[in-house]
Amino acid sequence: GKLLVSGANGYIAVWLLQRLLEQGFFVRGTVRSEKSLPYLKKLFSKYGDKLEFVIVADITKDGAFDEAVKGMDAVLHTASPFHYQASDPKEIIDPAVLGTVSILESVRQHAPQVKRVIILSSIAAIMDGATSTGPAHLSEKDWNVASVTACETLGKEAHQGDKYLASKTLAERAAWEFVDKHKGELKFDVVAINPPFVHGPTLHEVNSPENLNASLFSLWTAVFTDKKSKEDLTAPGGVWVDVRDLADGIIASLKKEEAGGQRIIVSADEYTWEQWVRAAHNIDNSIPDRMPEYDVDNVVHPITFDNTKSKELLGQTYIDRETCTRDMLAQFKEKGWY
Ligand code: NDP
Repeated sequence: GKLLVSGANGYIAVWLLQRLLEQGFFVRGTVRSEKSLPYLKKLFSKYGDKLEFVIVADITKDGAFDEAVKGMDAVLHTASPFHYQASDPKEIIDPAVLGTVSILESVRQHAPQVKRVIILSSIAAIMDGATSTGPAHLSEKDWNVASVTACETLGKEAHQGDKYLASKTLAERAAWEFVDKHKGELKFDVVAINPPFVHGPTLHEVNSPENLNASLFSLWTAVFTDKKSKEDLTAPGGVWVDVRDLADGIIASLKKEEAGGQRIIVSADEYTWEQWVRAAHNIDNSIPDRMPEYDVDNVVHPITFDNTKSKELLGQTYIDRETCTRDMLAQFKEKGWY
């Protein structure tokens, strides 16, 4: 089949490209700027004309994806801002929401053979705001209302976490509203994939730890700097999945008929940052253990996420923390980052 992947230069997207190309798919990727292309073309040169790129400079414009979607069989939408620097929540909410609606609208109008659109959402759209402490066991039935309310009432003063969480919540909500609005008329269905923080080796272009994407940069900061306090290192609330599992889960959701119309949590496990520090230290003793007194084996996580649907519906399996850490460390070492 022929697949469109938006935001094709991102951390998760490049792993998706790799897996899709390995499996023989034709992939068309969209990027914001020409700058992203030389690296990607070189990385995937052996796939020749099975991979092509289209520049979509502004995903928020009506019709931005009109050309990109033509001739495709399915679409994976990953392009969305992920950072904690927005002043006004609109800065991050608008590209997330308008980008999602814009790609759906382009498919509706210009790509009659598309069977499925997968939206890369997040547990951001499920959890109960950035500062909730639980206890809660969350599943696909849950929606994050708290972050949206926080942005509506506090505006610029809202917690940075809530601005990002609201952007993902509102984007996914907009996708389901779109489906509802065009019920009976659409030739495609929608799947939302809801991962937590994504860790694991990188394939995309990143030349220094400071330029890692937001999730890996947090992990880097915990393991290789002393910038996280003991309180941060032991605060529950972390949830993660390996990037390679996520790519496989997304592709499985593309192939599974029954996934249509569903949200699916693709999440390995809960964590505290010190659990990653300890895992890294155990693999490479030159990495200091910041809290040797901390019992990593008996951490209580008041908020947990139910990944049953991913296992039952997608046959999802999960890489464990030790393997993920080992593979990341090997890569960071190879890059000369530590
Ligand atoms: P990256 O930052 O590596 O990739 C983000 C991608 O989105 C890039 O292609 C980027 O393009 C593009 N993008 C960002 N802002 C805009 C914008 N305003 N307009 C157009 N394109 C934009 O992050 P990830 O790979 O981690 O994230 C990809 C997706 O996965 C996002 O939707 C994110 O919300 C979601 N996700 C990520 C998680 C994680 O822990 N990493 C967890 C859950 C969900 P450019 O390089 O040009 O900026």
